[in-house]
Amino acid sequence: MNNLEIPADSAPEFTSTSETSLLVVIVDSNPSQKMLRDNPHVLTHCIDSVIAFANSHLMQKAQNKLAVMACHSKTSEFIYPGPNKPLDVRQIDGQYEVFTAVEKTIKQNLAKLLATEKSTLVTESLLAGAIAMALCYIARIQRTKPPGCVLNSRILVVTGSGDSASQYMNYMNVFFTAQKQGIVIDVCALDQHLSLLQQGCDITGGLYLKVPQLQGLLQYLLWVFLPEPPIRQKLVLPPPVKVDYRAACFCHRELIDIGYVCSVCLSIFCKFSPICTTCHTVFKIPGPLAVKPKKRKIKL
Ligand SMILES: [Zn+2]
Ligand SMILES: [Zn+2]
Repeated sequence: MNNLEIPADSAPEFTSTSETSLLVVIVDSNPSQKMLRDNPHVLTHCIDSVIAFANSHLMQKAQNKLAVMACHSKTSEFIYPGPNKPLDVRQIDGQYEVFTAVEKTIKQNLAKLLATEKSTLVTESLLAGAIAMALCYIARIQRTKPPGCVLNSRILVVTGSGDSASQYMNYMNVFFTAQKQGIVIDVCALDQHLSLLQQGCDITGGLYLKVPQLQGLLQYLLWVFLPEPPIRQKLVLPPPVKVDYRAACFCHRELIDIGYVCSVCLSIFCKFSPICTTCHTVFKIPGPLAVKPKKRKIKL
């Protein structure tokens, strides 16, 4: 058989050298997270763990790619690679220059971002927006990659904030976009259980873990999230927990078990409304259910 006839899915052995793994880490740096309000030094610990984890990803293969984002209260920014030109670093204590550059760039850009934070207003982290930015970044890398190169992308969200149903629509949009693009979303919850992000992991085939102890964050990151998705099937990882698949109603953004769904646009409402607020379809007010009279059996 001619090599050209092999479909792209059954990748032959020789392309394995041109496989690249792109990891985008989203770190929640919002100062209004409960764990940071209790002890602001936790952020340093988290960033150190994420840097060590990111460098381990780069260490696995020379072709591996990395991007790190900080998700803040009002904005989400790429802190590696930063907006400025790459740092010029010399080797320190025999450490690989790329690792030094990753550490310095992340710390510098994060410090800049934290310094711009002035208001003490408590706002939620814009995680859905950060994931959307990560998806755009991955799409750009995918478009500009050299021909013949296979790019496996995944996103890791490290956050201590709770997920709010007010971003429900944005979350669902990014989850299904990621699923369509074949991008895995992993979530590492530091403080609270996150039911919406857990749905995202389930939809995209990623892993969800709420770390039992924050002190051991690096160990959890290395054991659970460092292996690439195809290898994970062969490992004994924390068993999947039951996913809470409740949806948020479009009227109050609250998670509901049972509600009304618009038959035209599939919007969800907790109470019946005669006009769908999304697509403006008019519905009849439901009357009492008509009960069919039982047919009497005729004895023969
Ligand atoms: Zn409602
Ligand atoms: Zn509708």
